[in-house]
Amino acid sequence: MANHTYISALKNPVFRIITQAASNLSLESYVIGGFVRDFLLDRGTAKDIDVVTVGSGIELAKEVAKRCPGNPKVSVFKNYGTAMLKTGGIELEFVGARKESYREDSRNPAVENGTLEDDQNRRDFTINALALSLNDEDFGKLLDPFNGLQDLEDKIIRTPLDPDITYSDDPLRMLRAIRFATQLDFTIEKQSLEAISKNADRIKIISKERIVDEIHKILASKVPSKGFALLHKTGLLRHIFPELVALQGIDEKEGQRHKDNFWHTLEVVDNIAETTDNLWLRWAALLHDIGKAPTKRFDKKIGWTFHGHEFVGSKMVYKLFKRLKMPLNDKMKFVQKMVLMSSRPIVLATDVTDSAVRRLIFDAGEYVEDLMTLCEADITTKNPRKFKKYHQNFQLVRDKIVEVEERDHVRNFQPPVSGEEIMETFDLKPSREIGIIKDAIKEAILEGEIPNEYQAAKEYMLEKGKAIGLKQKKTK
Ligand code: ATP
Ligand code: MG
Repeated sequence: MANHTYISALKNPVFRIITQAASNLSLESYVIGGFVRDFLLDRGTAKDIDVVTVGSGIELAKEVAKRCPGNPKVSVFKNYGTAMLKTGGIELEFVGARKESYREDSRNPAVENGTLEDDQNRRDFTINALALSLNDEDFGKLLDPFNGLQDLEDKIIRTPLDPDITYSDDPLRMLRAIRFATQLDFTIEKQSLEAISKNADRIKIISKERIVDEIHKILASKVPSKGFALLHKTGLLRHIFPELVALQGIDEKEGQRHKDNFWHTLEVVDNIAETTDNLWLRWAALLHDIGKAPTKRFDKKIGWTFHGHEFVGSKMVYKLFKRLKMPLNDKMKFVQKMVLMSSRPIVLATDVTDSAVRRLIFDAGEYVEDLMTLCEADITTKNPRKFKKYHQNFQLVRDKIVEVEERDHVRNFQPPVSGEEIMETFDLKPSREIGIIKDAIKEAILEGEIPNEYQAAKEYMLEKGKAIGLKQKKTK
């Protein structure tokens, strides 16, 4: 292999500081991993930089900090023998070169000090084992023991050592392989892919948080389906998302077939990835049909149905988030809401009435555009005529949303007549009646019987109160 030197990767003055600090301690140092990979891939220079030294990473970090402007704080992780500092908008992570050995039940290895080569051996992929020297005598020289440069060119994910051992030792690497393949649009080399399939069950020793991190990165990629297809093919998916695996397959009864909802879902995710970077909307796309497996029925008259799958699906979102130890916060509620409402605009698109649009805006509130984005991504028909027609219908719905919202302002609906006013008018204590009247006003507005205005709502309140037998308070 030619003697490649990449000084241009190391323009940031911090690298010369590391060189001096290491030389002062008589240590060798190298920048390694993602930074080198991303530079060579022309993905720009990463903001997190991993430095490996043959010696103590913690000491080197302290020596570097002394020389950095403003003398940044060093965070030491004693258990891992690593140290981190931030300077000039970048994050430097220091580690001493090490040799690792693994036990069956843990992805945390026993470690001992080692050489640069030992350290490169423990890296997950050849493209992540690339190092650039920070030493004076060969500053910028590429150290590439496993031909990672060639793999970068050929767009291949390969492990430095026997893949079977690499993945078994630390099963998180299986997800990382698939994540990098998706992010970088690389191919996982055949033996690696086989080793992943073979070791898929070992994913159970990985923490949910780590798994979710990788899923986030797959979902945030340009073509997320690539990752999910690989997860499926290798058998990892059934450990992570059995609900999605359950969507796979096509049943046929009395000559009637339904679509394969797994592959359909992946298409929807790719579609939505083209129109939005909103990670949670992408999650909604991934989960929008999960209620279809438990609700699937065959009806002699109407064929296959998935009645109520949106409601069932939204309940499943909660369980799935909980199982994966994801926060059960407003993001989760957003995904639930999207899943619950995921069929609404489609129904609308065939018959766009003002009141249906008002209801949609009312129910979706601030998320009505997100919902429209999701539902348009849901159009996966291969019939060009239908495809065009559906998109045109969606445009009609979108236009109508703007028109109705301009006129009726139901997006952030505030009752035009307050509960207090209802109590005051009919001389009521807090009671059921107030809710009934408020609801009736809301319904009348959504149905278009009265405009969303105070005067009209007040008159309607008086009428409605009378109808349920309330008497107006006498005014003196
Ligand atoms: P990115 O930061 O884009 O996720 P990265 O390659 O920098 O990609 P990090 O998780 O930051 O990934 O890890 C830095 C380096 O540490 C990797 O490039 C790789 O060399 C090594 N590494 C990380 N995780 C593992 C692992 N599970 N097994 C072996 N080596 C790993
Ligand atoms: Mg990194």
